[in-house]
Amino acid sequence: MPKVLIAEDEVAIADAVMYALRSEGIDVEHCLLGGDVLPKVRNGGVDIVILDVGLPDISGFDVCRELRRFSDVPVLFLTARADEVDRVLGLELGADDYVAKPFSPRELAARVRARLRRPHGIAHQHWRQVGTFEVDIDGHRIQYRGQLLDLTRYEFALLAALLHRPGAIMSRAQLMDRAWQDNGDSGDRTVDTHIKTLRAKLRHIASDVDPIQTHRGLGYSVVV
Ligand code: CA
Repeated sequence: MPKVLIAEDEVAIADAVMYALRSEGIDVEHCLLGGDVLPKVRNGGVDIVILDVGLPDISGFDVCRELRRFSDVPVLFLTARADEVDRVLGLELGADDYVAKPFSPRELAARVRARLRRPHGIAHQHWRQVGTFEVDIDGHRIQYRGQLLDLTRYEFALLAALLHRPGAIMSRAQLMDRAWQDNGDSGDRTVDTHIKTLRAKLRHIASDVDPIQTHRGLGYSVVV
């Protein structure tokens, strides 16, 4: 029987999820704290981790980051706020999926089942279709019109941030937050520079279109 570990401090939510999973024939273990997750995964036998982002001791993001040092167990986040969703999809966390609260426990159970059906090992190759793009956040890879782009770390981060919400304008500051998380020494021009090289790479694949739009005084968006 597959086993799911859920870290969630709201007992009512955890109970509802556990009920839904168990009725699908999935074994569930529950913990209230982020700190309990790592030892339980280390002990083995956990097939999927469901992580609440807002845990009382450590954030779900930090738990996931630590987890990724030694495990590629699929992680599904429970998020309560839009900015949490942004971070989940944003970058470098190695999350496989997320569900925004409030959510239907049955839908969550269906997602867990879908994930469990995937053969082990390809859980990490998680391509998400976004128009003419396909994004693999975990693998730090983006395809455009069926071709894999050869991107630098920053180009990847910028494009992934734009593709997170196609059509939405992101300011240079927002893009910088995403792409240069802990690196202070970059100005607006840096974003512009990387956008420029990014555009050149996209043009190399399709010279007649420019999916990255400049919005004067506002920032950039992507059309997919
Ligand atoms: Ca919580």
